[in-house]
Amino acid sequence: MSENILSIAGLKVAYGGIKAVKGLDLEVNRGELVTLIGANGAGKTTTLKAITGTLPPCKVEGEIRYLGQPLRGTASFRMVQRKLAMVPEGRGVFTRMTIHENLMMGAYTRTDKAGIAQDIEQWFTVFPRLKERAGQLAGTLSGGEQQMLAMARALMCHPTLLLLDEPSMGLSPIMVEKIFEVIRDVSRQGITILLVEQNAKLALQAAHRAYVMESGSLTMTGDAAGMLDDPRVRAAYLGE
Ligand code: ATP
Repeated sequence: MSENILSIAGLKVAYGGIKAVKGLDLEVNRGELVTLIGANGAGKTTTLKAITGTLPPCKVEGEIRYLGQPLRGTASFRMVQRKLAMVPEGRGVFTRMTIHENLMMGAYTRTDKAGIAQDIEQWFTVFPRLKERAGQLAGTLSGGEQQMLAMARALMCHPTLLLLDEPSMGLSPIMVEKIFEVIRDVSRQGITILLVEQNAKLALQAAHRAYVMESGSLTMTGDAAGMLDDPRVRAAYLGE
């Protein structure tokens, strides 16, 4: 049986009177690339923020378990120690630090200097733009380059689970292709991924399994390839 990495049961989140998530159950098993898709305002980002405990004041109910242990109430630095990394919507790189410093920050829980240097070199090979600009402030990078840096930084801690929030947002088609290539590669290396995306087609093409969310609730769940062929998904999310 596959090992459960993340398990969410009965998650409810309310911002004042707005019920953003209305009782969500979701599971991610080791090695899976699972995607959570849905329209604007469906509650996808809120779900990810509930996992990482980064919500603004609001009411959260339900259970979130990571590697079998309750996650709610865990401080962010402990999450990184437990190898849970997130790339938030809007990237979240340290704009006033250099690219190299950003990557080093991603590795702050590690002590293997040689391994860290080797990983940075590897990311520089994947994203040559980051190498060319290693000493420059991250704030000077384009949106797509910041997305690359945010991904590389999150992966510097060798996460067991990587949470990605809308990695394609605001990027050029070429950049989107590149980012998805990296996501697929990272998944092939065995890293477990929960991907929130509005670009349903790309997300379903990359993922093993998918959940569809509408107005705070799940409406469909299943095999991603099967969903690509589902007439309801095609009509509602693939513009067909
Ligand atoms: P998007 O793709 O646009 O980010 P989403 O599916 O990620 O959409 P959420 O951002 O989780 O959706 O929003 C879900 C609902 O909660 C929406 O109705 C949104 O307006 C509301 N909401 C989100 N953040 C807050 C907040 N800080 N205060 C009040 N309401 C919020």
